[in-house]
Amino acid sequence: MPAPDVNLHTHTWRCRHAVGDAEEYIEEAALAGLAVLGFADHTALPDGRWPDIRMSLVELDGYARTVRQAGERAPGLRVLLGAECEHSSGYAAWYREELLGARGFDYLVCGAHFVPDRGEWVSVFEGLDAPGRLRRYADHCVGAMRSGLYAFLAHPDLLGLAFPDWDADLAACAEDICSASAALGVPLEMNSYGLRKPPVTGRGGLRPAYPWRPFWEVAARCGARVVISSDAHRPEDVAAGLAELEALRSELGLRPADLPFIPPRARAAAG
Ligand SMILES: [Zn+2]
Ligand SMILES: [Zn+2]
Repeated sequence: MPAPDVNLHTHTWRCRHAVGDAEEYIEEAALAGLAVLGFADHTALPDGRWPDIRMSLVELDGYARTVRQAGERAPGLRVLLGAECEHSSGYAAWYREELLGARGFDYLVCGAHFVPDRGEWVSVFEGLDAPGRLRRYADHCVGAMRSGLYAFLAHPDLLGLAFPDWDADLAACAEDICSASAALGVPLEMNSYGLRKPPVTGRGGLRPAYPWRPFWEVAARCGARVVISSDAHRPEDVAAGLAELEALRSELGLRPADLPFIPPRARAAAG
């Protein structure tokens, strides 16, 4: 199995919970033998919502410029400019016009860390065990994929942090997300950040927070395509866990995403 050489999910200090800037991640990526490095830091939002975990609007152009300039100085490594976005119909036009359009971002990723529920945003980490909320999470993810804005759906199994044990409701939620992914041709991301977080105690003992294996068994059955990412928040993690994810993807017979180099989808969304 060839070593994975693409990572499309990289943060920078601007999201306020990562360290390092583009140049340091690029250096580590070259050392790790990556061929493609995509930055997908948490985008700024036009209304300044959730300011503690993302860059501010005044930092957005500096982010884009820094990634582009660092990329130009990195021979042999293809550097892409992206952003991790919370999906909302209220932001969709701004993502399309400002990020993909005016600023020419190469791609967007949807990372659903919050779910809309009757006019409120609920955290995926805390609120999803209330009745009906898993259904809303699935609907939210499917709506994001349907929007055509995103190159892939990041860490759909972030649920592994919120629930200790797999059950029928989670299976139904996974089925909805994975079957929509296959039907719409929007890949799902298997993300190794969960391997670097504290393990979760379930009925069967300790397991990684994510990737959550039963989710990916559903993805395999549905024929969803899968991209693997490190979700690096430190330069030294730029390729962390990619080999483990590749092994799991291959063991489960998951189909790799066909992404080389994304812009067709971004152009379609922008146009
Ligand atoms: Zn994320
Ligand atoms: Zn991320």
